[in-house]
This record gives sequence, C-alpha cells and structure tokens, in this order.
Amino acid sequence: MTHNDVTVLPDGRRLYSDGHTYTPVPREQRKNRVLRPEDPRAVRRGNRWYLPLPVIPMEQREMPQTRPDDETLRHRALCRCTVCVRPASKELWRIALRRGSLPPRD
Ligand SMILES: [Zn+2]
Repeated sequence: MTHNDVTVLPDGRRLYSDGHTYTPVPREQRKNRVLRPEDPRAVRRGNRWYLPLPVIPMEQREMPQTRPDDETLRHRALCRCTVCVRPASKELWRIALRRGSLPPRD
C-alpha cells in the first residue's frame, strides 16, 4: 500500500510519484507463496481466501414436494407409507393416542 501516485509505464514497470520504480515479478517467479487465488471474485476473511460457490441459479432451482408430518394421523394405524415411517410421525401418533385426540379421517 502506498500513498504515492502510481503510473504504469509501457514496459509494465510502476513509477511512483516519489521517483522510484518497481518491476512486478511474475507469479511463477515469486519466492514467497501467493495466497490470493487468481480468480478476481475471491474474497478474504481473516487469513483465508474464499471463492464463490458454484451454485444453480435461483430460476433453475426446484424444491421437492413435501408432505407434513401430521398427515399421518389421517392414515390408518400401522400404515407403512413414507410419511408414516418417519420418527416424527410415530411421535405424533404416540402423543395423539395418549391424549385421545385423533382428528376425523377423510
Ligand atoms: Zn401413511
């Protein structure tokens, strides 16, 4: 970081307003390890660099069809469908039987 104005010369060197020049060393010839990824979208948090995750755009995303757990109370007892075999559904059955509050079936 410098507070001097920097001018990039045609040969790639940097000329600072206080008169000195700097020749950038190519990445593969540097002696110290470069932590920053070459991707310009990389962001740094603390001492680590992060790249954006490759995610599907929001328009192309599809949410799976879901069925609520309390649908199991309208099924017959000991039903083996995907909703009724959930542990949360079994807990709902246990609570409803203890309270005697089974909803009317369809
Ligand atoms: Zn069921």
